[in-house]
Amino acid sequence: MIRVTALTRTYGDLTAVDQVSFEIGTGEIVGLLGHNGAGKTTIMKMLTGYLEPTGGSIEIDGLDIRTDREAVQQRIGYLPENDPLYSEMTVLDYLDYAATLHGVPDAERDDWIREAISRTELTSRAMDTIGTLSRGFRQRVGVAQAILHHPRLLILDEPTNGLDPTQVLQMRNLIRSLSAQATVILSTHILQEVQAICDRILIIHNGQKVLDATMDELLAGKHLLVAIDAGPEHALDLLNSVRGVVAAEPVSWPAAQAGPGHRYALELGENHDPAEAAPVVAGLAATQGWKLYALQPERRDLEQIFSEISAPGGRS
Ligand code: ATP
Repeated sequence: MIRVTALTRTYGDLTAVDQVSFEIGTGEIVGLLGHNGAGKTTIMKMLTGYLEPTGGSIEIDGLDIRTDREAVQQRIGYLPENDPLYSEMTVLDYLDYAATLHGVPDAERDDWIREAISRTELTSRAMDTIGTLSRGFRQRVGVAQAILHHPRLLILDEPTNGLDPTQVLQMRNLIRSLSAQATVILSTHILQEVQAICDRILIIHNGQKVLDATMDELLAGKHLLVAIDAGPEHALDLLNSVRGVVAAEPVSWPAAQAGPGHRYALELGENHDPAEAAPVVAGLAATQGWKLYALQPERRDLEQIFSEISAPGGRS
């Protein structure tokens, strides 16, 4: 669906985006993550054809944005960071205007506008003047104009920025439902946001891509956590002998998850995963007559991963 190769953008002496490459398949929800000033908006503006790259290439649906800009733009819906809505227009008039800008065929215009209004739950506000709407409703109008022309790729820059918690949940549900018809790229610096809706994340730091991984790959740790009633003097050697375990060590329960028993973290070797080792550990507990209180793959914390990868601060 999208192939970005060595994408670069400079502003004078500043390299805002530096040789970034990635590919995104149809239907994925990808989070573009990074500190303020990392280069996310610059990447999104280049993907949508609003900003000329200094170097590199962007292909969307097999079309090169340099040579087929208009055809590419018809396939894209874009919610800019600070959506420039026309505050004196009504929602309906604005969407009608957006339909013209997007080149929606006359025969489809009314149906598609109605559909965009209904999907963003704006029906009761369709006749309201945009300037009188709350921030959350204005954000929905921005999304409605972005999805109006049935784009195959949706690019949403900070879609939940400034929304209250209820509106955030509604926006997440909307984005998930939109991904049934379109590939979605969204930028944010809110980690929970990414964890809640994205299949995959790209982390940008000082203009460079520093991580590209699926959420499952990222959050799956290399440890299997086990809680049993046997102390280290009885259990450690046996746990260390489980196939695939390279090191077993006692760990303490985090305060938030206090529970019974002695707890161990079993570090697994390169080609071994927790799903293989877990039944073996359960079998060992049964044969040794240990009480097994917990047996679970480690889940890593996105905040921890993010701070390991990108030092705080960044440019702005
Ligand atoms: P934020 O999360 O704050 O929106 P971002 O990751 O989207 O940040 P960008 O807006 O892409 O970051 O900015 C990347 C870098 O490029 C920043 O250092 C920014 O100051 C700089 N920059 C962006 N636009 C311009 C411009 N028009 N002229 C000069 N520098 C710019």
